[in-house]
Amino acid sequence: MTISEQIIAQTEQYGAQHYKPLPVVIAEAEGVWVTDVEGQRYIDMLSGYSAVSHGHRHPRLLEAAKRQMDRVTLTARAFHNDQVGPLLQQLSEFCGMDKALLMNTGAEAVETAVKLARKWGYRVKGVPHDQAEIIVCDGNFHGRTTTVISFSSEELYKHDFGPLTPGFRFVPFGDVAALEAAITPNTVGFLVEPIQGEGGINVPPDGYLAAVRDICNRHKVLLLLDEIQVGLGRTGKRFCYQHDGIEPDILILGKALGGGIFPVSAIATKADLLGLFVPGEHGSTFGANPLACAIASEALHVIEDEQLAERSAEMGAYLLHRLQSIESPFVKEVRGKGLLIGVELKPELGGARPFCLRLLANGVLCKESHEHVIRFAPPLVVNREELDWALERIEAVLMAEDMPEKM
Ligand SMILES: *Cc1c(COP(=O)(O)O)cnc(C)c1O
Repeated sequence: MTISEQIIAQTEQYGAQHYKPLPVVIAEAEGVWVTDVEGQRYIDMLSGYSAVSHGHRHPRLLEAAKRQMDRVTLTARAFHNDQVGPLLQQLSEFCGMDKALLMNTGAEAVETAVKLARKWGYRVKGVPHDQAEIIVCDGNFHGRTTTVISFSSEELYKHDFGPLTPGFRFVPFGDVAALEAAITPNTVGFLVEPIQGEGGINVPPDGYLAAVRDICNRHKVLLLLDEIQVGLGRTGKRFCYQHDGIEPDILILGKALGGGIFPVSAIATKADLLGLFVPGEHGSTFGANPLACAIASEALHVIEDEQLAERSAEMGAYLLHRLQSIESPFVKEVRGKGLLIGVELKPELGGARPFCLRLLANGVLCKESHEHVIRFAPPLVVNREELDWALERIEAVLMAEDMPEKM
């Protein structure tokens, strides 16, 4: 057995099989490159689902983390710490919002947004108690907690985990008429991803969010945008909603906010919304800890200083164009924005995983998204040479004479 095989066997023996990772065991990483335990090098075209947008072990982020580790790392919310205030101001200004609330994981930030929208419904909109409804989209992904899976449309995510949390309604993604029809006097919010990441890199029709914003305004419904995966430069703008020239009522962030080092998530709102929480209503032991704050602050500075959104737009346009010009017999469609690109394979091929395995064997790390789609989402610091290196291998796999074997 190789070292990789040993570690995979150990992981399977002592762990739960709740996920099906590709058979590669990463030991080290730097920038867009990772190295496995056998010393094999790969280009990372997944970036931890956008959590590693800054590239692995960005020197400025490591430095910020080390500096803070030598000072204080955790106080819990019982006390103030000197990193929170500056980060809250920086993050609010970065988002064009008035206030922010820090949590750890993305799912926790989504939960926070759901709680806040419901509270607003009761206190401001006047919805009768326990009657609040939130509209979500088919094919959404917002995390894995019990309430969040309650409004997943994916049976696998929820079928054995009920009873589920009530108060959610589904509409098709990208369908404004269906949204308007689903609104009732008890609707408090519409929760949506500007581009569905886990759902298969689904890009809605142009103008979708602008129309959604208008509907929400007219019916007094909050717009909750989950930018955990698509925000912070990923799609070629600081926030994906900026492509539509609108603003959300509640912006939900995570993943890249922690610079690929630490889980940091947040929601940001105008003052009158986050001002609704009163002491004792919400919390988290690790939320807003000084280490997380120091890292998130530097992560935001790096996004600005290195113009990661602009780079994502430029490199993403190049990658999209190159991928679209591969005349592969396997490919149905190539789509995306910035450095979030999906290559959808023809459904009769039976799924993208065998292609991801073959890409892995060729030194390119990526993961299927929703069965038939290969997602390409490298760190935003990727340069053209590195993309060319990956493209040469992607082209070889997509133009191969034979189909990769299923595994
Ligand atoms: C990853 C993700 C989440 C959940 O974040 P976790 O940190 O895994 O809890 C929520 N929404 C979207 C759009 C995501 O991509």
